[in-house]
Amino acid sequence: MLEKKQQEFRQKIQAFAKEVIAPQAVDLDLQQRFPTEYLKPMAEFGLMSMLIDKKYGGSKVDTVCYSIAVEELSRVCGSTGITIAAHNSLGTFPIVAFGSEEQKERFLPRAAGGELLAFGLTEPDAGSDAGGTKSMAVKKGDGWVVNGTKCFITSATHAMATISTARTSDDPQDKSITTFILEKSMNGYSVGKKENKLGLRGSDTAFLHFDDVEVPDTNRLGKQGEGFKQMLITLDGGRISIGAMAIGLAQGALDCALSYANERKQFGRTIAANQAIQHKLANMATEVQAARLMVYEAARMKDAGIPFSRQSAMCKLMASEVGTRVAHLAMEIMGGVGFYTGKYPAERIWRDVKLCEIGEGTSEIQRLVIARDILRVVSEKGAII
Ligand SMILES: Cc1cc2nc3c(=O)[nH]c(=O)nc-3n(C[C@H](O)[C@H](O)[C@H](O)COP(=O)(O)OP(=O)(O)OC[C@H]3O[C@@H](n4cnc5c(N)ncnc54)[C@H](O)[C@@H]3O)c2cc1C
Repeated sequence: MLEKKQQEFRQKIQAFAKEVIAPQAVDLDLQQRFPTEYLKPMAEFGLMSMLIDKKYGGSKVDTVCYSIAVEELSRVCGSTGITIAAHNSLGTFPIVAFGSEEQKERFLPRAAGGELLAFGLTEPDAGSDAGGTKSMAVKKGDGWVVNGTKCFITSATHAMATISTARTSDDPQDKSITTFILEKSMNGYSVGKKENKLGLRGSDTAFLHFDDVEVPDTNRLGKQGEGFKQMLITLDGGRISIGAMAIGLAQGALDCALSYANERKQFGRTIAANQAIQHKLANMATEVQAARLMVYEAARMKDAGIPFSRQSAMCKLMASEVGTRVAHLAMEIMGGVGFYTGKYPAERIWRDVKLCEIGEGTSEIQRLVIARDILRVVSEKGAII
């Protein structure tokens, strides 16, 4: 059950999503175009600073409201959902959580004002095994020289800076990783090939190359060697937003299937009059609601300061698999026009939602995180509940 202020927040976001975001969703997908013109209105609406304190120009909301925002944006446009989720959870959060006062003052007001931040963890040889980072930062005078390549970076082309990991030891045995705020304006920082994606085509995903990027020590985020731990904490929060994105997309597919089933007539009656279709719709609605409750539970635990790593992995796993299942069922309900004409949003959602099973850790990695945690708890306490 949502609090009144959370219900009102949903209504506000729904209105914004319908008026500003939805009208362009089809074109962004078809043209594979990143909508830079959205950034200002989204910033003015507070969507670029949902985890940032007022003190730095932010519009901080609780994690349930943040999830609702990602959910409602994704419901009409998955590309906008991922742009906002990545910017807030992966771009602004590490600075909020681990940044110095000077870094907060330098970057957070800009981020709140509509300048994107990206997150550079994944590399060609370090995907699920993010600790296998090959990017290297070598001390030079008071600063660092960073070399490396990052791939699959959301908003890479447009971001003013990327929160990036790099190894900070020459010793191959020493896997210590440090996080740096690498700015687009730095010499040697360049945006590489943009991916031609199956889905989320209005979101920008590209390579980043760092060639002898000279970085002042004031751009080191937190302590040397703490980068990997910081990234795991960041992903715990980020997974809630991917769960929210998945339920938003799933709800969008369900909306589409419901209205189609009520309109389409075969054998002299709407297809919704058939029990076989009704059962599909009932299963879809039930699964979406169950996943939604898991996302909100993880969000509430985060806000209450209760450890929530397992719950964030669980909600992402559940919501993303529900998302792909519901999108598939929506298309089945729509027959030929669903799968093959691209006339209805369900088809775009089907292509978009798969990312939720991959980004911020695949479903296999979520199962690994969950299993490790429940086995640990059982060995310590005898039972998980
Ligand atoms: C659209 C998009 C946006 C993204 N945005 C970002 C971003 O902004 N920043 C960023 O840093 N990254 C980003 N990523 C990268 C994403 O997080 C990785 O793709 C993801 O973590 C998986 O890594 P990988 O693709 O290298 O797969 P791999 O790690 O190569 O995995 C391949 C397969 O093997 C399985 N596998 C791997 N290890 C195990 C294991 N131990 N046990 C069982 N199965 C295993 C995986 O589950 C998967 O099925 C993005 C990806 C996409 C597609």
